[in-house]
Amino acid sequence: MVHPVIIIGSGPAGHTAAIYAARAALAPVMFEGLMAGGVAAGGQLTTTTDVENFPGFPDGILGPELMDRMRQQSIACGTDIRTETVDRVDMSQRPFAVHVGDAVYHAETLILATGATARRLHVAGEETYWQRGMSACAVCDGALPLFRNKHLLVIGGGDSAVEEAAYLTKFASQVTMIVRKDHLRASQVMQRRAESNDKITIRYNAELHAVRGNEQVLTEADLMGPDGTIETVATSGIFYAIGHEPNTAFLEGQVALHDNGYIQTPHAPSMATSVPGVFACGDVQDFTYRQAISAAGSGCQAALDAERFLNH
Ligand SMILES: Cc1cc2nc3c(=O)[nH]c(=O)nc-3n(C[C@H](O)[C@H](O)[C@H](O)COP(=O)(O)OP(=O)(O)OC[C@H]3O[C@@H](n4cnc5c(N)ncnc54)[C@H](O)[C@@H]3O)c2cc1C
Repeated sequence: MVHPVIIIGSGPAGHTAAIYAARAALAPVMFEGLMAGGVAAGGQLTTTTDVENFPGFPDGILGPELMDRMRQQSIACGTDIRTETVDRVDMSQRPFAVHVGDAVYHAETLILATGATARRLHVAGEETYWQRGMSACAVCDGALPLFRNKHLLVIGGGDSAVEEAAYLTKFASQVTMIVRKDHLRASQVMQRRAESNDKITIRYNAELHAVRGNEQVLTEADLMGPDGTIETVATSGIFYAIGHEPNTAFLEGQVALHDNGYIQTPHAPSMATSVPGVFACGDVQDFTYRQAISAAGSGCQAALDAERFLNH
């Protein structure tokens, strides 16, 4: 059997693609993953609490609940969801072959929506205080009351770390960037932006070593210097800005990637990749916006692209 569309991945991008493809009578099959990339089916939003910036939920909605609703909508529209992880795909043949364990599925088009995973340090105490003062997304979580008028730490020294720190100064009383080296990796213009912001302090030659708190929230962090000395600082929030890992290993280089590993979709507004009939959407091809709504939007585009490809 050859499926018109196979969707790989189950975050907001994959589910939006599924809803559109199902409504276009393409009978999509979705492989939602089984802890693929260390993330549960439903994607990154299953790892967070309140989502306050997804339209349609004026009181906010819990991330796992939002993803559960998207999954229900995909099924209601007619998507066949399989709770399995795709091991590899073969794009050298048509129809494309999708390998899942010992089984092989065939599809005329593929929609790649496997997302990305925010890098974490996994320091002592992190599992306890993740989403109780620790986050990997300032734009998503920075405005929460927990962080308002508080001292916050941003871990990282690249452009996105400066971006996150500058964003957090809208809410925080003070932001300290914790930089492992004796200099920032960020571009000159971003360095100037950090240095000229009164609310940002840069702490060089320091690494996050451990976090602690009370029963509810994070209250302090241990920083380690190059000689191993530990200093404890009071903080109400720690934001990781040490990069993301796009989930593209299973593609084994068959579609063109950017140098940073994200899938290239160079024909905007189309979500087409370098392989005709293969489309990518969401965070696996977006290292700029990385938001649920932008992922969903590109999922819609990818499904409409796949439909047009099949029609022609
Ligand atoms: C802690 C946190 C909080 C966030 N809060 C917000 C917020 O408040 N608002 C907001 O707009 N954005 C938020 N984001 C960002 C948002 O979650 C992402 O932009 C969005 O989830 C990206 O969606 P996606 O569909 O591209 O991929 P993802 O959500 O990354 O989902 C991809 C899915 O594909 C699966 N997968 C991977 N490989 C395979 C495979 N080989 N086979 C099958 N399945 C596979 C993965 O397991 C995962 O379930 C947050 C992110 C994080 C980490």
